[in-house]
Order: sequence, then structure tokens, then C-alpha cells
Amino acid sequence: MISPGQTLGILGGGQLGRMLGQAAQTLGYRVHVFEPAGPCPAGAVANKEVNAGYEDLAALTAFARTCAAVTYEFENIPSGPLEAIAPLTALHPRAQVLHVCQNRQREKAWLRANGFPHVRYAEALDGEIGPAVAQVGLPCVVKTADFGYDGKGQMKLSDPQDLERAQAIFRGRRCVIERWVEFVCEVSVIVARSSAGEVRAFPVAENIHTHHILDFSIVPARISDAVADKAVRLAGAIAEKLEVVGLLAVEMFVTAAGEVLVNELAPRPHNSGHWSLDGCETSQFEQHVRAVCGLPLGSVAVREPTVMVNILGDAWKWRDGAVVGDPLWRAVLNEPRAKLHLYGKAEPRVGRKMGHFTVRDSNVELALERARALKARL
Ligand code: AMP
Repeated sequence: MISPGQTLGILGGGQLGRMLGQAAQTLGYRVHVFEPAGPCPAGAVANKEVNAGYEDLAALTAFARTCAAVTYEFENIPSGPLEAIAPLTALHPRAQVLHVCQNRQREKAWLRANGFPHVRYAEALDGEIGPAVAQVGLPCVVKTADFGYDGKGQMKLSDPQDLERAQAIFRGRRCVIERWVEFVCEVSVIVARSSAGEVRAFPVAENIHTHHILDFSIVPARISDAVADKAVRLAGAIAEKLEVVGLLAVEMFVTAAGEVLVNELAPRPHNSGHWSLDGCETSQFEQHVRAVCGLPLGSVAVREPTVMVNILGDAWKWRDGAVVGDPLWRAVLNEPRAKLHLYGKAEPRVGRKMGHFTVRDSNVELALERARALKARL
């Protein structure tokens, strides 16, 4: 067990690292943040911020030596340097987990090899997508294997004319081509597995994306108990098979037939778990700290139905490409059962995650209705 008072290192300095650091400090840990481009949102609340590239082995090694445990909030960290620091500290989740989850081709191949339900797909590792598109059929979506998130590096193909344009865009890039799923809803389960082997899943969140970016997370998800149970079991089984220590977020599609298909894995706190800061006995960030440090896992009981709404840079008042005014924060601040969380990012940009708010109510539909109204007023 890594006891409070010791130092937890976080690789990545964004909002996930910030909220993770805050949770770690609440439990009495010291927090060191490693981030290439400082000053960063996590560094602003850490005991120490180191700014160096992930490939800078000397800096990374020196950082790891100051930490009793190291974790990460960001998937696009090269797994080679991570393997190099593993002997120096307790690195969780282990580098092999990141290696699988940071690349869509490896992730899907792992799901397939281990028999977990996933969306039908084919690989185009030479950048020639034609045969893979033919194999999967239309409509489908082309996704780059590396460095994709929030819909970046993706293109939907609906009819044969789209193929030529996609071939030009993705030429020379490693891709996976997935069958387009007509889902009834998207859900995620965040599951924690501790270094002592304890496993505990947060309740299922229902997620609504707009332009590929998470817009609303709704807890409890409006799905049947049977489907919720299936999603929770699936996430737990994946975390066990991957031998994750820390959090694993599993994003899934639910089909009209009640199938649950895995879309993506993320071995870290996840945007769809932010509701837990206000709506759950233990937040996902605290749970990650507990899991990584070998503490007993916390209760995942829902305090009250909760809806989380992302606040993107789009919410600022813009004129001719420049910001001319802040969102109407008082709309959220005046609401007794709403909480505002801002990440301290200096510059709003369209599509950039700047913060989120949550709304609680005894009834999930009412919470969603008020969340939508507040978002419109912001
Ligand atoms: P991803 O980056 O893979 O999580 O994709 C972002 C979003 O695009 C997902 O949350 C879905 O809303 C949508 N999407 C991605 N893949 C598919 C698919 N195969 N079928 C339908 N929608 C998809």
C-alpha cells in the first residue's frame, strides 16, 4: 500500500490530471505532474510540475524517482518510455495496458482475440482502405489507428462515392474500418481494479455525443436492468483480463436487440465519469487514487440521479473569431442543485473542453430537462 503522505506522479497535465491531483491531495498525497507544455491545468494544483517531453528519458526517470507511484491521465504517451520507468516506481496501469488501449487496431484485435463483443471491423494497415471497406460494407466509419480521440481522424462512408475521398485522406495511414452501428444509445462503465485485486464498477452512464464530443452523461442510464447488468459485467471482465490497476473506462453501443458492443477502452479517468464528483459517494478520481495506491475501493452508490454537461469553448461569446464575453455562469451558480467545475484553461477555443457542470434531481428526466435548459442559458 502506498500511504497518504507519499507522492503520486501524474503523466499528463490536463483537466483529468487536475481533478485526479485534487482527489489525491484530499487523501493527503503529494502530487507531481509531468507535462510537455506548461503551465498546465494539473500543474496549477500540484505540489510540483515538471515540463519535458515524454521521450526525454532523463527527465522522465528523474520524475519517476520522486514518486511512490506513477499513473497517467492521457493515452498518447509512448509506451516505450513508460516501460523504462516501470522498474523505478509503481506504474499503474502497467505499460502493456496503455500499449493495447492507445491504438485502435491493437485494441480491437485484443477484444477479438479475447472474445469480447465489439463492432464488426477490418484492418487497413497499409493505408489502402478499399478492401477493408468492401469487407465491412457500407455504411461504415474509417478511423486512424493512432492518436484519434473525440472523433478526430474519423470519417463516415455512406455511399460508394465517399470511398475515393476517404482513400485520398487516409492514404498511407494505418486505419480500422468499422461497420456503422445504428445504436439506441451509447453507454460507458468505469470500473476500478485495485492493486489488491478488488474490482468495483460505477453504475452505467448513458452518453450523448454531439459532433463526436461528449455532450451529456446521464446517470442512471435509461436502459433495462438486464442491459445495465450486461454492460457492468463486460467492463469488469475486460478490466480483469487486462489486469488493469486503476480505472478502466469502457465505452459501448447498445443496439435495439439489447446487444452491448464495446467501442473504446481508456485506462484512466474518463469524461463520462465526471458526474461522480457530485452524484456518487466516491468520485472516479478518488477511486483511481485508491486503486493505484492499494487502498480499499470506495462506495459507488449513487447519491441522486445526475446529469453532467460538458462546457466547450463554444459556450463563450464569439465575434469574428475572437472571444467577446464569458458564458453566463450565474445561470448555473444560481441553481441550487447544480455544480460548476472549470478547469482553469487560459484560452477558450471552439471544441476545447473548458469545464463541465452537473445537475441533480430525484428524477433523471427532470435533471436532464434542467441540464438542457441551463446549457441553453449559459
Ligand atoms: P470514438 O472516437 O470511436 O469514440 O467515436 C466518437 C463517436 O462517434 C462515438 O461516441 C459515436 O457517437 C460515433 N461512432 C464511432 N464509431 C461508430 C460506429 N461504428 N457506429 C456508429 N457511431 C459511431
